[in-house]
Amino acid sequence: MKKRILCALLAVVLCACALAGCSREPVESTTFAMDTVMNFTLYGGWDREKTKETRDWMTSRLAYCDEMFSATDENSDIAQVNRAAGQPVELKNPTAELLSQALELCRVTDGALDITAYPAVKAWGFTQEEHRVPSEEELAELAARIDYSAVKLDGNTITLPEGVEIDLGAVAKGFAGDWLAQQVRNIYPGEDSALLDLGQSTIVAVGSKPGGKPWRIGVVDPAQPESYFAVVELVDMAMGTSGGYQRYFEQDGITYWHILDPDTAAPARSGLASVTVVAPSALTCDGLSTALFVMGLEEGAAFWRNHPELEFDVIFVTEDGEIYRTAGLEGRFSLAEGYTDREVTLLE
Ligand code: ADP
Ligand code: MG
Repeated sequence: MKKRILCALLAVVLCACALAGCSREPVESTTFAMDTVMNFTLYGGWDREKTKETRDWMTSRLAYCDEMFSATDENSDIAQVNRAAGQPVELKNPTAELLSQALELCRVTDGALDITAYPAVKAWGFTQEEHRVPSEEELAELAARIDYSAVKLDGNTITLPEGVEIDLGAVAKGFAGDWLAQQVRNIYPGEDSALLDLGQSTIVAVGSKPGGKPWRIGVVDPAQPESYFAVVELVDMAMGTSGGYQRYFEQDGITYWHILDPDTAAPARSGLASVTVVAPSALTCDGLSTALFVMGLEEGAAFWRNHPELEFDVIFVTEDGEIYRTAGLEGRFSLAEGYTDREVTLLE
């Protein structure tokens, strides 16, 4: 008897769903935040209204991220810190959380990622898109000011020595991605399914596609940024790419890009054209892709071997177009159409 009632109930629910048209159609949205266009596709559960609410929450969270983390927005937490001239500043919780995680990545990468590169980023004109090439003396002076270990973070209180300024451009999108993904997971435990594209090749796959298949994400060919040379399959995983092709300018036949080597304060020339990191955390992907780009192939591969606790895998593309990938991507990595004749060297 009980079974019959349950069957009848199930039939009613299914009919109601069909009548209401509530198939798992995605709720999509496009937002401009953190200097880039972001696209979200939320499958959520059967409740479209709830999914729309989640989308609106995400959009407002991103506006909040912009307000807090942008070094160029004079009201942000970060701009306030950069103006403080040696005085302690009280941060909002998310900013303190992001800073603490970012500083940890600076430490573990031995300063290949360094959030105090901001004076150099400004000197090259990347913040205001008024590009210039600083002189050798200026670069030496700027490099001497890059030192993440001078940042003192105690709970929510941060103190920077005078002359040191921070920029979370290399990690903020990843932090935002993790934050948004966590919200989707909280709202739809067990049936979460969303693709969060935070722009500039920072992607978070929440769950799998409806039906259980992995999300298939293209990896940009740095030599031809409108094409994808590979596809990575992601389930509950993030992916982030850093490359010289993303933001750069040319002067006298030389290309200068926005990823700087903290040792020289000049664009990092490690022989790499792009680095793609795949990891459960988008912050790890964002921070490490920048850091590994600075390190180069050999040092980057050694870093991968020495840090299994960071749970990441990497795809390196050199300036000569050689492709390298780490062993953990087995079964999740394939070359894209038009690239299947390319050789891929396995890093183990
Ligand atoms: P994108 O923001 O284009 O995705 P990245 O995540 O690689 O690229 O971050 C690059 C940004 O981070 C630069 O625009 C600059 O603001 C800052 N930056 C540049 N070099 C470094 C570095 N070595 N460590 C930390 N931040 C950096
Ligand atoms: Mg980054």
